[in-house]
Amino acid sequence: MFKDKIDQYIDSQRENMLRDLTDLVAIDSTKGEALPGKPFGEGPARALEAMSALMEREGLGVTNYDNYVVTGDFGKGEKALDILAHLDVVPVSDTWTVTEPFKALVKDGKIYGRGTCDDKGPAVAALYAVKAIKDLGIELKSSLRLIFGSDEECGSSDLEYYYSKEEEAPATFTPDASYPLVNIEKARLSKSFEADAAAEPGKKDVTSFLAGSKVNVVPADACFTVTGLGLDEVKEAALKAQEKTEAVFTCSQEAGQVLVKVKGQAAHASTPGHGINAITAALTLISDLPLDETKAVNLLRGIASLYPHRDTEGTALGVAMSDETSGALTMNLGILNLKDGVLRGEFDSRAPLCATDENLTKVMRKDFASIGMKMEEGEMIPAHCVPGDSDLVKKLLESYELYFHEKGEPLAIGGGTYVHDLKHGVAFGCEIEGVDTHMHGDDEYMDIEVMVMSAKIFADAIIRICG
Ligand SMILES: [Zn+2]
Repeated sequence: MFKDKIDQYIDSQRENMLRDLTDLVAIDSTKGEALPGKPFGEGPARALEAMSALMEREGLGVTNYDNYVVTGDFGKGEKALDILAHLDVVPVSDTWTVTEPFKALVKDGKIYGRGTCDDKGPAVAALYAVKAIKDLGIELKSSLRLIFGSDEECGSSDLEYYYSKEEEAPATFTPDASYPLVNIEKARLSKSFEADAAAEPGKKDVTSFLAGSKVNVVPADACFTVTGLGLDEVKEAALKAQEKTEAVFTCSQEAGQVLVKVKGQAAHASTPGHGINAITAALTLISDLPLDETKAVNLLRGIASLYPHRDTEGTALGVAMSDETSGALTMNLGILNLKDGVLRGEFDSRAPLCATDENLTKVMRKDFASIGMKMEEGEMIPAHCVPGDSDLVKKLLESYELYFHEKGEPLAIGGGTYVHDLKHGVAFGCEIEGVDTHMHGDDEYMDIEVMVMSAKIFADAIIRICG
């Protein structure tokens, strides 16, 4: 029944929202070196200070938690809701084309600038949702708190600090992912594995292997050297491997060895099917070459048997599993290096709710043992799940449906969000499926209509939860 009033009010605030967002974007809040009283450096502390000033302007009760987090309290009664956003940003490059990263620009219904979509724009939307309720004099039964952090991009130690001092609210949402709503974040098992693989002089052998730098990325490049085989021989096999794998192979003679470079395609580890893994493509070729059964070759072929190219669901490893609510397990072989006589790799798996250390971690450990490699100790990081039929999820989806005019189904994702460690936290907004906001990339933008509508949606959600 407040919808018309809220819509009208938020629409009237459109220019103010853009101005506040422009001011926040102007602060380079990339993580810096820790300073006394500024755990993440100058930039993040200045962003927190700027947001404190905005919240004070709106009459919220502001607290600064030692420059880790700032909060703004609104309303009376027991606290029913926290809204969580972050003001730090990822580093920028010098290849932006529309505007400079810290100089926001409005163009074609979008506002461009670092942090506009991740997460300063959504933070401003949350602030204006509260401002609308306050200025319209809408009575709430319970109070709520805005929480703005400054270390989301580098491990969320800001929240660790905050929650070491404060209790989690009965309900929390963070506008730092996608609509309709993310209620499940898969479990994660990411471990290294290794074995000795000393070179065997005089043999047809693989003498080096180098690929991958981040375990959570599907590697786009791999290179390795082979000794004891002719260039033409390797080239011929590489052509066949190229057909099989869709990766691109280039071979050259170097210092009496053949150097093979493999080009695949990068993707995030939670969606490995979207990439072409250069490591598994390289292993395909190594399996086909007429090499001797040296230590390195046997180990590499063993890994190839566990990670066949394009098997991104852990089928050969015997850990493929899925369930209806959280989908299928994904598996990424992200790093593999052979140097100084040691072969060492790392994998990253995102697992559905049905995964346990029994049916995943132990099985993987056995797999690596069976090919003579040792997997690192430790267990998986458990999944995050707020039930789809919980009050919080139902209410937020009602708000979503009111504005998007379509049924909202909660999502399960492989990545982690800002609320991963909260018992009653979900991610709600502001990205929309199929729209590429260039988040973390050049020319990041926020669709202004989406930001304005998000403020209305959050106001509606606040009334449902705290009203
Ligand atoms: Zn973010």
